[in-house]
Amino acid sequence: MPQALSEFDLIKQYFVRQRPGRATLGIGDDCALLTPTAGKQIAISSDMLVEDRHFFAGADARMLGHKSLAVNLSDLAAMGARPVAFTLALALPQADRHWLAGFAEGLFALADEHGCELIGGDTTKGPLNICITVFGELAPGQALRRSAARAGDDIWISGALGDARLALAGYRMEQNLPPADLATAAARMHTPTPRVALGCALAEAGIVHAAIDISDGLVGDLGHILKASHVGATLDVDALPAGPVLARQDSALRRRYTAAGGDDYELCFTAPAASRDAIAALAISCGTPVTRVGRIDTEAGLRLVDAAGLPLDLQLTSFDHFSG
Ligand code: ADP
Ligand code: MG
Repeated sequence: MPQALSEFDLIKQYFVRQRPGRATLGIGDDCALLTPTAGKQIAISSDMLVEDRHFFAGADARMLGHKSLAVNLSDLAAMGARPVAFTLALALPQADRHWLAGFAEGLFALADEHGCELIGGDTTKGPLNICITVFGELAPGQALRRSAARAGDDIWISGALGDARLALAGYRMEQNLPPADLATAAARMHTPTPRVALGCALAEAGIVHAAIDISDGLVGDLGHILKASHVGATLDVDALPAGPVLARQDSALRRRYTAAGGDDYELCFTAPAASRDAIAALAISCGTPVTRVGRIDTEAGLRLVDAAGLPLDLQLTSFDHFSG
């Protein structure tokens, strides 16, 4: 039997890396020390993943490592901030070496892709709970705030929506999906791609007004922009890009899951029509497709329309932990 891991052995073995990092002082002291780049602001965000709430008990550790950082990087992307560092607060039911190795592998693969350094955290015994705080940098005045949408703006979406929600329906047996389709859709649910390059490029180019990442479903998340910006919107539901598996389902399901799926981690942003060409060019250079799906109006409220511009009543609800 291998010896039981102590808390400090666990941190050292799985989370301390022997390589120079961006932080002035990394893991090991009471605090980490970060020296901000001169003239930059620091963007900070936390996101927690709780077993049985955000993922199934027994979920693959490698995927959890990826997703717990991905959802945080998605918030930086939605603000237009470049990832710098993160902390990891972990409650674990036991120190399982196999689980820890998988988790660290998924976590650091994504962290390295974005040059984001683990600089500290906390480790305790308890029901599985993963909380990450990310730190990013951006120039003052460049942040893509929810309150910045203006009437006349186009509404844009990155990537494609709805496959993560479709996978959930597949797991719950609400939808009957062939195993290969379920696997493709589930990959979107378990290993979302944070749109960091696109979010940062849009913010740095100064061609976008408001942005948000779509975690709880487009209609609900766009609603946050509308409220903060004191505007309304018209959304062409049939223009919403569906994920490859959802794209093959009937139009009622496609409309429902693209408009209010959840767990997409795509960006929704608004920009003046004058930015169209520049946005299309940036999207190509970032390798992330973007689609124009509606416009911001002075009239309050969100109007859902079909491809012909006729009103749709989809009776959608957005995800809410305390009323869902
Ligand atoms: P303290 O007693 O001051 O809370 P700890 O003993 O919890 O500090 O942690 C020791 C060091 O290890 C600290 O630098 C802390 O940031 C780091 N650390 C603890 N848990 C983790 C983790 N899960 N990932 C990365 N660093 C961690
Ligand atoms: Mg501690």
